[in-house]
Amino acid sequence: MKLAHWLAVAATAALVTACASTTQGGAVGANRSQILIVSEAQMNQQAALAYAQTLQKASSARALNTNAAQTARVQEISRRLIAQTPHFRPDARQWDWQVNVIQDKTVNAWCMPGGKIAVYSGIIDTLKLTDDELAAVIGHEISHALREHSREQASTSALQSLGVSVISQAAGLGEAGATVINTAAQYALTLPFSRRHETEADIVGLELMARAGYNPQAAISVWQKMSAASQGSVPQFMSTHPSHATRIADLQAAMPKVMPLYQNARGKRR
Ligand SMILES: [Zn+2]
Repeated sequence: MKLAHWLAVAATAALVTACASTTQGGAVGANRSQILIVSEAQMNQQAALAYAQTLQKASSARALNTNAAQTARVQEISRRLIAQTPHFRPDARQWDWQVNVIQDKTVNAWCMPGGKIAVYSGIIDTLKLTDDELAAVIGHEISHALREHSREQASTSALQSLGVSVISQAAGLGEAGATVINTAAQYALTLPFSRRHETEADIVGLELMARAGYNPQAAISVWQKMSAASQGSVPQFMSTHPSHATRIADLQAAMPKVMPLYQNARGKRR
């Protein structure tokens, strides 16, 4: 009983100390409190490893940044978005951001924990994305990383495992620790996010693009294009990013908060 009791106390303590928001709210108010018992360093380390492997594979297939113009375009849009991330979390300034384009028909894009971005040429070419729309896609993905949604998912899973351990008294701390590390590895990769995470990534992304001078209305047209494209074969992006009518309604609702930021940014760029 003693070990179980100790574990329960430890789990409660971890919960109390780990409930925080990874970001400041910004104009859109994205500062929901999150359970974060898996360390950020652990997530970022796993992500960096998975990212390096992805790049290696693309490079071997001669599919890494092969279209110079497209790569430059993706990197410039990403640069402008990344420049706005300190509005949500100042530490993102020190992140080792990386942006690469993979030449592949896959209709997908993602940003791993710690700012490791990949855009597949398929999403740009298939959906014929404008700069504003591309900014909406990349901004959405960056926002998942800023909000550390992968880490939150890994933490929730780890906590559930820990709860099971406490009840069964089967696991010592060593085993619980191993579970945390395993789930971190699993979640550093791109698994589907929850609806709540999608909504957050949408509205944070909306603010990032507005502040960077990209028209937030494009976030709506990009989802409409995605829906239209999914009539045939389902793009991979859709499997990790379910499309809902409510998604567009939520974007519309947030529009008045970000349009002034866009107008302001446009004024400065002129
Ligand atoms: Zn998403």
